[in-house]
Amino acid sequence: MVDADGRLLTGAREVCEMRELYEHRPSHRPRSAYADLALVNGRIYTGDPGLPWCSALAVAGGRIVARGERGDIAHALGAGTRLIDLGGRFAMPGLYDMHTHPDLALAPRYADDLDIGIVDPRPDEVRDAVLAYAAKHPDREWIYGQYFVRYTFRQAGLVPGKAWLDTVMPDRPVALLDRMWGTMMVNSLALERAGITAATPDPTNGYLERDPVTGEPTGLLIDGAYALIHAAMPPTPVPVLRAAYRDGIRYQSARGVVASKYVHVCENRLQALHALDTAGELTVRIEAAISWQDDIFPVRRRWELLTGERHYYRSARLNANAVKFHFDGTVEPRSSYLITPWDGANSGWAGKINLTPEHLADMLWDMDRQGIRVIAHCTGDAASDTFLDAVAEARRRPGGLGVRHQCAHCTILHGSNLRRFRELGVTAEFSPVSWYPSRFVSGARSGYGPERLSRAYNVKGVLEAGGVAVIGTDWPVSPLDPWIALETLVTRANPWGEMEGRFGEPISVEQAIGVMTRNGAWSMDMEHRAGSLEIGKSADVIVLDRDLFAIEPQGNIHATRVDLTFIAGELVHDRLNAESDAVWQGEAPKLW
Ligand SMILES: [Zn+2]
Repeated sequence: MVDADGRLLTGAREVCEMRELYEHRPSHRPRSAYADLALVNGRIYTGDPGLPWCSALAVAGGRIVARGERGDIAHALGAGTRLIDLGGRFAMPGLYDMHTHPDLALAPRYADDLDIGIVDPRPDEVRDAVLAYAAKHPDREWIYGQYFVRYTFRQAGLVPGKAWLDTVMPDRPVALLDRMWGTMMVNSLALERAGITAATPDPTNGYLERDPVTGEPTGLLIDGAYALIHAAMPPTPVPVLRAAYRDGIRYQSARGVVASKYVHVCENRLQALHALDTAGELTVRIEAAISWQDDIFPVRRRWELLTGERHYYRSARLNANAVKFHFDGTVEPRSSYLITPWDGANSGWAGKINLTPEHLADMLWDMDRQGIRVIAHCTGDAASDTFLDAVAEARRRPGGLGVRHQCAHCTILHGSNLRRFRELGVTAEFSPVSWYPSRFVSGARSGYGPERLSRAYNVKGVLEAGGVAVIGTDWPVSPLDPWIALETLVTRANPWGEMEGRFGEPISVEQAIGVMTRNGAWSMDMEHRAGSLEIGKSADVIVLDRDLFAIEPQGNIHATRVDLTFIAGELVHDRLNAESDAVWQGEAPKLW
């Protein structure tokens, strides 16, 4: 950036304004004796049992250097310290959303894909939306979008699939995802473009629904099978993904999230995240999990990424040392892998897994030796049981690093497995979508049957057995808003009171905060440097408009507003001050 005579060249200014991609400082660089930042006059919940509450924090070089009452941090205050008076407001450690997909929800917006935009669209509404989109986009080859809902077809006495879709749109390829992301409905032309015929074998991670006599695909592709369709479509471009992630990150910062796992990434997605990182807009620490197999879209450079290309994206905010895969399916197509068959004694069908147990055990061991975390989608109790068995096997083999692998969703867990999360150092991750009664959840969950549902989403059981439970919003399956998760962890009831009843065992506010802060940090291997407000840890602090310990949780926690979000002492979100130097100002964007 400097020429032979030492003059600054054009472009150097931009370089100077770029964020440093490292929080580390050379260990011998002199440090100021004073804090860069101090928060005073707050009601600060630290999450540290040694000192749960304080009113003042001092931060230097991104870390907490003093805490306590105002007098306890006085020695750290200098002329250059930025002093923020919290005016008695409540503050706490930032939140961890340990499983989400902002790209899947938001990229269609920037790619201008079809978005039906109705929570539970009826078949006629799906038809109207497809026709309107087709008319508006005459030059688009593919009509691709979301969502249709299987149970609304059942209610209308219709069968979703190519026969129905061909009556709507016979002459352009159409592919629509269902709301649970477990099924794709396509028309005959889409099957033809993807080269799918009766002779096409099912992939290991999904299947084609077929006519029982002819073997002809019906146009419903389950789980990983729909990657066959995506492979025939153009991949989502990097600028679209970048715009999508930017919105998601801005939203997460505005809702107090400081760290998140983005699961199912490919080379384009990593490039998009890297671009945000270098622009100073990655205001959430992201662990990005590379798809182990083509569960949603094809990942063309999977092996290059896993063997080392992933390191090129690494910074203080971005880490791609994880893989994600769908181990079993979902409730709607009855592909969750269960210990007892779906229909009791009348059927032998217990669902399926997408990797053989031998494949899984070898893969876990291999990834463990490379320090790569494995995140496995497990909705059925047999899926998580088999996953835990494979971790146990990997732990017995030599050379493993004891990586904290993650059992995603944990919808139904077997009681005997609760203690194994602690024993094997596996994170139990729960998804909030099914924690409270809603029309969608009632429709979907009924398939599991009453016995299994009575032990579903057993966050409390894992915690009582000494295990680490975390939450993932799993957006777009459920909203990206972590405060809905926090409220429903505590109430297990519908936050808006739309439906009566409770579902599962609640935990306390204090436990729920621990799940969404300290436990998240543990599941990202950061518990020694983040997750609670302790001296030496990263200053990841959020300031709220209400005191979570002083309000009635039901109907209130989900509506919490986050006034300020700091990550490593950097102010990244400021809700109340439009002139602020924070990366983002104002309310969280409306994303759904
Ligand atoms: Zn997911």
